[in-house]
Amino acid sequence: MSQTVCILGATGSIGQSTLKVLAEHPEKYTVYAVTANSRIDELVAICKQFKPKIAVVPTELVDHLAQLLKQHQLQQIEILADEAGLIAAASHPEVDVVMAAIVGAAGLLPTLAAVKAGKRVLLANKEALVMSGDIMLQAARQHQALLLPVDSEHNAIFQCLPQNYLQLERENYQPKQGVSQILLTASGGPFLNFSIEQLQTVTPAQACKHPNWSMGQKISVDSATLMNKGLELIEACHLFSISEHFVTVVIHPQSIIHSMVQYVDGSTLAQMGNPDMCTPIAHALAWPNRISAPVPTLDVFSHQHLNFEQPDLQRFPALTLARQAMRSGGTAPAILNAANEIAVAAFLAQKIPFTAIPEVVDFSLNHIAITSADDLDTILDADTSARRAAQQYIATQRGGLA
Ligand code: NDP
Ligand code: MG
Repeated sequence: MSQTVCILGATGSIGQSTLKVLAEHPEKYTVYAVTANSRIDELVAICKQFKPKIAVVPTELVDHLAQLLKQHQLQQIEILADEAGLIAAASHPEVDVVMAAIVGAAGLLPTLAAVKAGKRVLLANKEALVMSGDIMLQAARQHQALLLPVDSEHNAIFQCLPQNYLQLERENYQPKQGVSQILLTASGGPFLNFSIEQLQTVTPAQACKHPNWSMGQKISVDSATLMNKGLELIEACHLFSISEHFVTVVIHPQSIIHSMVQYVDGSTLAQMGNPDMCTPIAHALAWPNRISAPVPTLDVFSHQHLNFEQPDLQRFPALTLARQAMRSGGTAPAILNAANEIAVAAFLAQKIPFTAIPEVVDFSLNHIAITSADDLDTILDADTSARRAAQQYIATQRGGLA
């Protein structure tokens, strides 16, 4: 039987890669709902090709979308609006699988809605898990949702862990089943070998030009600061119920190994492949089975050198900030994430230099009381306060106009 899919963030980089995989398997999957925030023409093109039942956009784009759909004789597609529309699509009774690929905190409530509706949730939106950690995992257990990692590193770790690892009870964040350590790989981004002086003058265009991956702007900047790896460290701790002591970040500039798991008997398992998100997307869609993905098989003979280095925490302090936030727990990861979102947006708008991004995050973490994060409201309040603090820092300390 064909499975129905809702793609939250269909117009983005992950959304488009998901559609590429689904297009290879029309007999297995039907696109039921798609969502966009601004790229309306891309959304219409998706509607033309996949004929979903539901499309979700912000209220101000509803009329425009309705007109365009009518022009293409697609008026039967139901248009929903705003966060309520995203939540309705993600938890729709007809939907089996939800791809969570909205960028940033905006994806939290729709992703959580999919989890609470017991869906198979393919998690790309790492910020949602960083913010809500325990709440999201508890909801997944309670509502029997299957939360599968799409982030390439976490998907690789998942592939290298014992089969039933995710289903096991949590054991105080200790590794289990003979696992001793997770090696989380990082390409190091476009500025891996830049000096601190050089980092001070890099531009948004340079930061968005990743050497190995083609991605949305926000995650590209996060990769350049290594905050992406920091967010992924937190993501790994939650997904695999493991304390941050057991997660080591390894710079691997070729992005051929997507992460590794080490075992107590001396084994190190790695997952390798060409850097293309279609592979982890196909894996998460079909798990525990396998389906084809539009990615060439890795030609090992063309990769004679695979290098591994320690990250430089002096030049890339974001990694330390994220590790500290995970150690602090409670609302600290949500504060880290929110301040980072504001700082990245300010950098992309050329209001602050690249090196100010971790400064903004550090300031916010130090100026907001970190509390336990037992409910969603506390997390959303921390998110709001952190955004305010970050904006205040940018306006006052950095002379920017946040
Ligand atoms: P993009 O910026 O390419 O796409 C983001 C998507 O989210 C778009 O569909 C966008 O709509 C939508 N969106 C943006 N803001 C909002 C909002 N406020 N409300 C509703 N929808 C919104 O990002 P990516 O695809 O690169 O990344 C998506 C997520 O996946 C991120 O969390 C990222 O960290 C994660 N990820 C991405 C990887 C990659 O290779 N790209 C790898 C691993 C994880 P529109 O385009 O119409 O404005
Ligand atoms: Mg990743």
